[in-house]
Amino acid sequence: MYTSAWNLPAVWRRFYKMAIKLLDDGLINKIAAGEVIERPASVVKELVENAIDAGSSRINVHITAGGTERIEVVDNGAGIAASDVEMAFQRHATSKITEEADLSRIHTMGFRGEALPSIASVSRLELYTQCGSHTGVRAILEGGKDYKVEPYPTAPGTKIIVRDIFFNTPARKKFLKSTVSEGIHIHEVISKLALSRPDISFSFSNEKKLYFKTPGNNSLRDTVISIYGHDFADNFFDLEWHGESYTLKGIISKPEFRRMNRKNQIFFVNNRLVKSPMLAKAVDEAYRGLLLSREYPALILFLTIENEEVDVNVHPQKTEVRFRDEKVVFRLISRGIRDRLDNYPLHGSNLERQEPVFQSLSSNTRNEGYNQGILKVPLQHVSEPYIPFSDTSLNANSPYDITGLDNKVLTYSDCGFAIIGQCFESYILLEKDESLWLVDQHAAHERVMYNRLLENNALKESHSQLLAFPLAFDLSTAQMDRLEEKMEILREIGFHIEAMGPNTAIIRSAPLLLKGHEIEVINNCLELMQDEHLTDLKKEIFSMMACKQAVKAGQSLTRQEMAIIINEWLQVDNFKNCPHGRPTILELSHLELDKRFKRK
Ligand code: ADP
Ligand code: MG
Repeated sequence: MYTSAWNLPAVWRRFYKMAIKLLDDGLINKIAAGEVIERPASVVKELVENAIDAGSSRINVHITAGGTERIEVVDNGAGIAASDVEMAFQRHATSKITEEADLSRIHTMGFRGEALPSIASVSRLELYTQCGSHTGVRAILEGGKDYKVEPYPTAPGTKIIVRDIFFNTPARKKFLKSTVSEGIHIHEVISKLALSRPDISFSFSNEKKLYFKTPGNNSLRDTVISIYGHDFADNFFDLEWHGESYTLKGIISKPEFRRMNRKNQIFFVNNRLVKSPMLAKAVDEAYRGLLLSREYPALILFLTIENEEVDVNVHPQKTEVRFRDEKVVFRLISRGIRDRLDNYPLHGSNLERQEPVFQSLSSNTRNEGYNQGILKVPLQHVSEPYIPFSDTSLNANSPYDITGLDNKVLTYSDCGFAIIGQCFESYILLEKDESLWLVDQHAAHERVMYNRLLENNALKESHSQLLAFPLAFDLSTAQMDRLEEKMEILREIGFHIEAMGPNTAIIRSAPLLLKGHEIEVINNCLELMQDEHLTDLKKEIFSMMACKQAVKAGQSLTRQEMAIIINEWLQVDNFKNCPHGRPTILELSHLELDKRFKRK
């Protein structure tokens, strides 16, 4: 049936009669701004990328009220000719590409000519620029309109001031976060841009505080030091790898420098910041065996690759990247990093610590070990007063006495399980309740350790211990802010920290539980506390410590050791999941087995 307007309900009929027409430019720009300009940090990104494209050697960014009130970006680049200024604020006006063929060989950051008109349409904007021998110009716009341009003496290069972002789009303004959190975002964006170009000197100040100033001497290490501080940079190796058609450069963290998430993994492909699960996996592969399951290295990597090998023409707001041959890039990254790590002497590294978590029970120390509850190594970093090994662990009189039973199948009638053995040095096989259980040894032990820590509530002010030697450590200005803001929470869990200088803090006392890990835990806490979803810092720390204390995958265990773990594990609440919610067991019932073998 043919539908005419008259068959439609009355409300629709009104729209039906509306004519199709072109949107006016102001509206188009506002719509585009919705895509390109999400928050103050996007303005900073666009303006700084323009400054980079203009060949600047110095770029200064200054913000107030998290950039919601004012953002200023000053560069010493090429500037814009007076006659081009008006054009720069036109949509799709760009000096960077002229024909389609250019698209595949873009070296500049921007090329769509969308940023300036979009930013201008949602703010009050001032631009000062001077180019070559032209006289300087000043342009003033309000919401992209009331455009005023006049000759104005100014320094070579460009200065743009963006005020009152979203003043004319109140609905969008409502979505802005607190000025602190917008400021943090800007800090992150400008840090990454500064890292991407160690040859340019960047400075970033927020209100009256200078957060960093990079030297622009083309050294990535010096750039990292000026943004994150010396202590952070000391944890990294330089990496440089030249292949036939690739180069890989950057810095990678030593294996003992472990992070709780991937936030500190920064990749640039042909100088563009990108995100890629494949690159992250390649890094995991390189560090395999050096880190535990939820530990991540930190790194900043620059991959240079021929333009045909990679799709750079991605959406400006998306940082995903596509490679023509993913496998080659994967191998390149994982091998490049691994080679560098292999040359590293493993003194004091994670590997060493990882090795004998349980001391062998077949050695002479066996009985001693039993009487002390075996605890020797697994809890080496843990203060004994809080975490006594449970009484049910083995001693000569206990019903679970297994002395001398090594290599036999152990049956615990009381607990109702029998250890069959271990496979892949990662899973414990046992028979229980008419089922075959495969237990992830690390996950199960992690659950045990976690519950113990939780029960003992080992993180309180009263369990804090004065350090004989206060520990000093470096922090970036951004971390320092966070530290000062969260000092009280850290005190509640037993850390007494003082600021010593603009970028140095010292730990005077710390929870006994975290002995030897104080700085690492503080760093991780500062990272965690940045997360808006963090509900319980204590639990996060407990799970961090439990993971460290638990036996690792890849570790061979004797039957007794397996029995001890299983025995205690079966007695804790929620033993079927590790503290992160992953399963600890896989169960196969007798019935199921029979079915699979077609016995029934
Ligand atoms: P795009 O960067 O995609 O070309 P923009 O809207 O960001 O589009 O900028 C439009 C044009 O304005 C640029 O192509 C460039 O010619 C000029 N321009 C913008 N910012 C600067 C700057 N800081 N220095 C020199 N030229 C600039
Ligand atoms: Mg641009």
